[in-house]
Amino acid sequence: MSKIKILWLSCMVLGIVMVLQFTLIFWLYPSRTTDQTQNLTVVLDAGHGGIDNGVVGKVTGVNESDLNLKMCRLIEKQLKNRGVKVELTRKDYGGLYGSLSAGFKRRDMEKRREIIKAVKPDLVISIHMNKFPMSYRSGPQVFYQKGDEDSILFAQCMQSALNNFTGNKHASLAGDYFILKCIEKPSIIVECGFLSNADDEAKLNNETYRQQLSEHIVRGIFVYLYSL
Ligand SMILES: [Zn+2]
Repeated sequence: MSKIKILWLSCMVLGIVMVLQFTLIFWLYPSRTTDQTQNLTVVLDAGHGGIDNGVVGKVTGVNESDLNLKMCRLIEKQLKNRGVKVELTRKDYGGLYGSLSAGFKRRDMEKRREIIKAVKPDLVISIHMNKFPMSYRSGPQVFYQKGDEDSILFAQCMQSALNNFTGNKHASLAGDYFILKCIEKPSIIVECGFLSNADDEAKLNNETYRQQLSEHIVRGIFVYLYSL
């Protein structure tokens, strides 16, 4: 066989191998972004509302319930821009308890569960602001339902995304929370910061900081999705 024929055959074989290789790669690894966001539904739960202000800022008197809703709206916007379906349990500053009679807090929580069960989301993120008797404690902290393996991974991914932003070394923490037991899907509480800490309160009152924080919460969601 002439050298030219051998070269021509080698090129043909190499070409076929490359085409097969790329076909295989695209078949095995379709676009992750499209895959991970298409058909993805997230419930964002802004904690408290109405008569229930939640934690109140020590310096400015800002209400946790207001900040929770503002954070949810920022996260909602970014997720929707990425093609994710988003539902909020609380869409305005009012509570979800109906009439302000005895047992309103229980009714408020049950309404949240009812919404989550109806939406059937893939992920649930409840947004809160924290407080601690000692004012030195600061930074975002993520909670998951004790023993819930899927939620542990989600919480760890979220906590590490938030630690990267703030420089904290917090670990996500286990607990027993009503909102995390509404549906058998990964569910976490993100406590965005401590309103018992003056620095955190000042930051959380700042629109630019809230935007940055919301971007890192969104990043935490995608870090989790890509880790699956
Ligand atoms: Zn709260």
